[in-house]
Amino acid sequence: MKKLLFILLFLFLQVEMVSMAKVVETTHPYSYDILKQDIAKIHHTYKKIEVKSIGKTHFGRTIYGIKLGEGKQNIVLIGAHHGREWMTSMLLMKKLEGYAKAYQHQTNFGSFSTDILNDVSIWFIPMLNPDGVTIQQNTLDKFPQDHQKYLLAMNEGLENFERWKANGLGVDLNRQYPADWKALNHQPDSPSYQFYKGKKPLEAKEVKVLTQFIREINPVIAVAYHSSGEEVFWNYYNGKHLHRDKQIAKKVSKLTGYKLGKPPKHATGGGFTDWFITHYHRPALTIEISPLVGETSPPLSVFETEWERNKYVGLTLAEEAKNFKKPK
Ligand SMILES: [Zn+2]
Repeated sequence: MKKLLFILLFLFLQVEMVSMAKVVETTHPYSYDILKQDIAKIHHTYKKIEVKSIGKTHFGRTIYGIKLGEGKQNIVLIGAHHGREWMTSMLLMKKLEGYAKAYQHQTNFGSFSTDILNDVSIWFIPMLNPDGVTIQQNTLDKFPQDHQKYLLAMNEGLENFERWKANGLGVDLNRQYPADWKALNHQPDSPSYQFYKGKKPLEAKEVKVLTQFIREINPVIAVAYHSSGEEVFWNYYNGKHLHRDKQIAKKVSKLTGYKLGKPPKHATGGGFTDWFITHYHRPALTIEISPLVGETSPPLSVFETEWERNKYVGLTLAEEAKNFKKPK
């Protein structure tokens, strides 16, 4: 009898250990398929998580939103507006897993308490542009055959797609938001692997569903993660909340060791944070991870450093959101 109990206890512990095993692996490029698996595993393992499809891309891939916490207020962290920036998806998924685990066990995450998640929830949108990520990872066979030729043309005939930034239709998602969109450069004037702003704002489905979702959840602070450059951009217009927003950006700059981006003399516009700041008059940050790498994805070798620099950003901004007074 005693022996049987020991065996049962042993088996139970094994099952516990498997279910507690680390989900997010950072040794391979982060693909849309891996993202889907990891979301399912994390959803299965941890409580107080809500998984939602916020919409679909032009090629039918799901754009996921994952909420962690029970707070009525919330903040939002968005990754991979751009195909070649899938490391930001990896970073956000690892953050989600780490926070979820600590929150469930009511332990600290590093030196930070996760109690804040009782007051402020965090929405993760780890991969806004799964079509672009799939193209960038050279898995074109996951697209209809007639479209593959078109993708090749938009990539100027190059068979390696590692520089791909746009969505599946060759539209640059961070040049699609209704914030001084008209003033944006008109070059290139047709779909391309990068920089094409589209015929009008919000024509990309990804951007349309994101703006609708933002209206729904009404976040206090929004962050768009990009690569590369190790820089925090926080300012868009000469509005009345410059001082407030700069204080928040400074905290993130201190935490990450990234430099504060200089406000551009002439607004470039069209980006997510440009839109969020002008539309809601609340803080939004564009955080560029990784040392500069040019027109490609950052190498996996930089991930650990970038993780260490960014792992507390979500909890820190949740604290900021709690103290935030909504401007009139
Ligand atoms: Zn980007």
